[in-house]
Amino acid sequence: MNLALDNVSYHYPGSKQGLHELSLNVCAGELVAVIGPSGSGKSTLLKLVSGLETGHTGRIVFGGQDMSSTPVHQRRMGMVFQSYALFPHLSVIDNVAYGLKLRKVPVAERHRRAQELLGIVGLASYAKRDIGQLSGGQQQRVALARALAIDPLALLLDEPLSALDASVRGHLRDEIRAIQQRFNATTLLVTHDQEEALVMADRVAMLKDGRLLQIATPREIYQQPSSVAVAEFVGLSTILPARVSAPGKIDLGFAELFADTGARAVGSGLHAMVRPEHVQADPPPACVNRLQGHPGAQRYLGALTRYDFEVPGAPKPFLAESAVPAARAIAIAPDHIRLLDH
Ligand code: ADP
Ligand code: MG
Repeated sequence: MNLALDNVSYHYPGSKQGLHELSLNVCAGELVAVIGPSGSGKSTLLKLVSGLETGHTGRIVFGGQDMSSTPVHQRRMGMVFQSYALFPHLSVIDNVAYGLKLRKVPVAERHRRAQELLGIVGLASYAKRDIGQLSGGQQQRVALARALAIDPLALLLDEPLSALDASVRGHLRDEIRAIQQRFNATTLLVTHDQEEALVMADRVAMLKDGRLLQIATPREIYQQPSSVAVAEFVGLSTILPARVSAPGKIDLGFAELFADTGARAVGSGLHAMVRPEHVQADPPPACVNRLQGHPGAQRYLGALTRYDFEVPGAPKPFLAESAVPAARAIAIAPDHIRLLDH
């Protein structure tokens, strides 16, 4: 079911913190990942959608119906949190069936449904176990099964993988995505891990200071971040202050480069962003946007080496990636320089 936030603002009582004029649409079956630094309002957004936090202005609409004043237990949201929030005194299957019991589903039916969901999350043989006997990753699967059991209008996942080891996390994120797609569940996934967001989401929404900075596909937010704040948060890059020195040219202070300046006026101040994979190592001498210098710190990553390349006069090194680090010079193709106006 389609979920829409329409100009939603919220302030915690006696505080300026919260959300500011946030509008966002999650299509039926879509997974939107909400990213942003700690304190940017990600959990607040989920709490408002779930009804755990109330008193916002603007509208929260499910399938055309304004749910703003619907109490939490009537909203039918499937929720999963970082801390598994399972009932330690209940067995695995009773945890999964819990929401169905609240909804007075007969015992045989709710056990059938809970067992089916345990099968889907790969825990069919764990039904009778105690929660305490399960690993963190298994507990999070139980939480997901419990969230899905109530046939939710939307899935709200708040950092579901953050407490898990890297190896479990990588595996479980693929699984969560597959299950979400299988159920065609309209989903908001909060994460502070931009890589997780890019891998899992149909679209990524970036929050900062309670405001939505950009919502776009993973590819778009990576390739065309709308601001320095988004570019700094998503992926690796080198971001340098610059000025339009002529149409099609920018001045970095230590060098002038060709770049697509579009309709920007000469003299405009902005920032130039370059991704490490777009830094060409030791280009031919006649190459445009060639910068001489020397390599700095290196990190060997196997297929690639990620390294700093120092250019005399530059306020910071260029971050670069290639099979073999540049020895004397780098070049950046003009169409790989992304200009950011704010
Ligand atoms: P995130 O999940 O992105 O880390 P939160 O949504 O939890 O951020 O918090 C957003 C802002 O609201 C933060 O500045 C936080 O300190 C503040 N905040 C969160 N919960 C409360 C609360 N119960 N009372 C007052 N301020 C809060
Ligand atoms: Mg949070």
